[in-house]
Amino acid sequence: MLTFGDARIDKIVDLDPFVLPASLIFPGRRLKELAGEDALLSPHHVDFAADAVILSLHSFLLRLDGKTVLVDTCVGECKPRPRRTDWHDRRATGYLDRLAAAGVRPEDVDVVMCTHLHADHVGWNTRLQDGRWVPTFPNARYVMGRDELAHWEREEAANPGGHNHGAFADSVLPVFASGQVERVEDGFALTPRLSVVPLRGHSPGHAGLELDGGRHGRAVFCGDAIHSPVQVFRPDWSSGFCHDPDRAAATRRALLERAADEDLLLLPAHTRLAHGFRVRAGATGFRPAMV
Ligand SMILES: [Zn+2]
Repeated sequence: MLTFGDARIDKIVDLDPFVLPASLIFPGRRLKELAGEDALLSPHHVDFAADAVILSLHSFLLRLDGKTVLVDTCVGECKPRPRRTDWHDRRATGYLDRLAAAGVRPEDVDVVMCTHLHADHVGWNTRLQDGRWVPTFPNARYVMGRDELAHWEREEAANPGGHNHGAFADSVLPVFASGQVERVEDGFALTPRLSVVPLRGHSPGHAGLELDGGRHGRAVFCGDAIHSPVQVFRPDWSSGFCHDPDRAAATRRALLERAADEDLLLLPAHTRLAHGFRVRAGATGFRPAMV
């Protein structure tokens, strides 16, 4: 648990470790270039011997301004994901128990915000009940970006259930059916101090949430604008899963520059162990200071 002014931030893990071969997450890049940063990256973020990157899949639970907000909902349970075995038909993950341990029941969540609609960010939007997908958080508004939704609605129209691991069909459409989706623009304020900010590139409408902590500074829940601390050292390394890698890299670089200038706290969706990091700029580039 992290306090940020009077906001409370908990990390609710769904899957950790999630190991990806470097060739998959950073195609064409040489992870061994960063062997000199071994002390910071290894063993938790990079396995140099296996040439792999290690991630966590988690939500951030945020309590502020009298609201309970859940940012990104990971992979979920019982979802058919045959193309990725460690996401496929998961059972007894303990995710909701960890939410309960942080003091929150599903019905307590006021707002669910998905930074984007990839299968590892929408899974707990729904759960299986009597053979049907129903919203996991019955009283929540599910906030999704207009550009992001428009992209996936086009994909769904072209190939119903046959894209993005089927996640739009089983983890987004049921929340539309229950009338809980709120389609928002950049700048939308979830609470007086928490606003949607554009971070395009990883997906067509990828967005983050910026928390104004007043004299405590600002924090940005930046989703998959940054996957790993590796990318603080190598801002140009977009992932193999990025929709527009050049745009994702420009977004990442601008975010890192701003983080270094303004001492922002960055809270990515897949950084292990720490909640996130601050960014220090030096002669050789950026470095993360884990928080
Ligand atoms: Zn992701």
